[in-house]
Amino acid sequence: MKYSPRYRLFPTTAQRENLDWTRNIVRQLYNHALHEFNKIPEDAGTLRQRVWQVRDRLPALKNWWTDLTNVWSTVLQKAVERIRTNIQNLGKLKDNGYNVGSLNWKSPREFRSFTYRQSGFELDKKSGPDNRAILQLKKVRGEPLDIPVRLHRDLPDHDAIKEVTLKQEPTGAWYASFCIEADEPAKPEPEDIEPKDTVGLDLGVLKFIHDSDGRSIDRLDLSEERKRLEREQRSLSRKEYESNNWEKQRQQVAEVHARMTNKKRDFKHKLAHYYTTEYDAVFVEDLNVKGMLESPENARNKAEVGWRDFISILKHHGRKRGCHVVEVEPRGTTKECARCGVETAKPLWVREHSCASCGFRLDRDFNASLNVLSRGLEDLGVGYSEDTPVETATAMDTVSVSASRVVESGSPCLKEPPTAASRQG
Ligand SMILES: [Zn+2]
Repeated sequence: MKYSPRYRLFPTTAQRENLDWTRNIVRQLYNHALHEFNKIPEDAGTLRQRVWQVRDRLPALKNWWTDLTNVWSTVLQKAVERIRTNIQNLGKLKDNGYNVGSLNWKSPREFRSFTYRQSGFELDKKSGPDNRAILQLKKVRGEPLDIPVRLHRDLPDHDAIKEVTLKQEPTGAWYASFCIEADEPAKPEPEDIEPKDTVGLDLGVLKFIHDSDGRSIDRLDLSEERKRLEREQRSLSRKEYESNNWEKQRQQVAEVHARMTNKKRDFKHKLAHYYTTEYDAVFVEDLNVKGMLESPENARNKAEVGWRDFISILKHHGRKRGCHVVEVEPRGTTKECARCGVETAKPLWVREHSCASCGFRLDRDFNASLNVLSRGLEDLGVGYSEDTPVETATAMDTVSVSASRVVESGSPCLKEPPTAASRQG
C-alpha cells in the first residue's frame, strides 16, 4: 500500500528563500515544458510518450538554462511528468461531466510544490534541535539543505520512502509529504478473533462517536476558530483588493482555515489510530446505504461529510495495521433493542433507549453501537456465541471523553479509572 504522511518543516529565513527559489525555477520549467509539449502533435504518440519526449530534452536544456543545474535531477523530471498527471486529471473531470479546457500556465500562487524521487534526500530522525528530525535535501539552489522537521507521527525507515514532496501552503508554512510504500500486514482470520477484541461505532450528530465498549467521544470544538475566521474575513473584506495589506490579511484567513483543517484531520487520525491498534475489527455503519432518516437535514449533511472522511481514514489505518474495518447495514440500528431485537421508534430528542418488550434501558447511541457490533460480528463471521453483545459486555456505564483529550493524548483511553464525575449513567 501507498500512503503519504505529512510533516511540518521549520526552515530558517535563508532556507526559506532557497526553497522558494527552487519552487520558482521548477514552476518555470513546468511552464516551459508545457509549452514544448503543446508543440508536439497529438498523433505523435501516447500521452506518456509525448511527455517523456519533453522530459528527455532536460539534459540539453541545462546547457543554456544554467539555473537548472542547481536543482536535483529527479525534481526536474518529476516537474515535467506532472504534465501527464495533470492532463489525466483533466480527463477524469471531463468524464465526470465538468467543462474543462486545456492545461494552463501556472502562476506562483498555483504552483506550490516540488518532489524528490528515490534520491537526493536523507531523513535523520534524531539529530535535529528540540527533538526534531532533520531532512536533508540535496542541491537546493546548488547546496545541501538541512531542515528541521517535526515527526509527530513515526515514519518507517528510509528504504520505504519513495518520494518526498515539499510544499508551501497558502499560509506560508512549508510541509514535507513522504510517499511510503509498505507491505500491507495480514489481517487476523475471523475465526481467530475474540469478540472482545472487536468494537462497534455509532457515529452521531451530537457526539462524534459512541462505541460498544461504552466510550462516548465529543465532537471537536471549533467555535473559537470559527469566531476568529469570521473576524479575519470581515477584516479582509475591508482591505483594498490585492494591496499589500490585503495580501497579509489573506494569509491570516488562510492560516485559520489551515488550522481548522489540521485540527479536524489530526482528531480523526488519532481516533482511527486508536481503534485500529486496540482492536482486531472495527464495525461502522455503511453510510452509502444510510438514508436521511433521523435528524434535521442540515445538521446531518454537515456531519455526514465528517463521518465519510473518518471512515476512509479508518479504513486506511486498518490496512496499515492489519485491522478489519467492516461497514454494516445501518437500517434500524437506533430503533432495534440490542438485547431482544424488538424495534421501538424514537425521534432524535429521545436520548434513551427504553425497550417496552424486555425492559432494557440504555443510552440511545450506546444501544445503536451494540447493534452495529452484533451486525459486524455476524458479517465478518467472528466466532459468534449465542450470547448477544449486551450479555457479554461487562461495563454498562458510558465514559464520556472530550475531544481535547483525544487531541492531546492521542487516544480516548483513560489513563486512570474514571471518576464518578466523568461518568454518566
Ligand atoms: Zn428489548
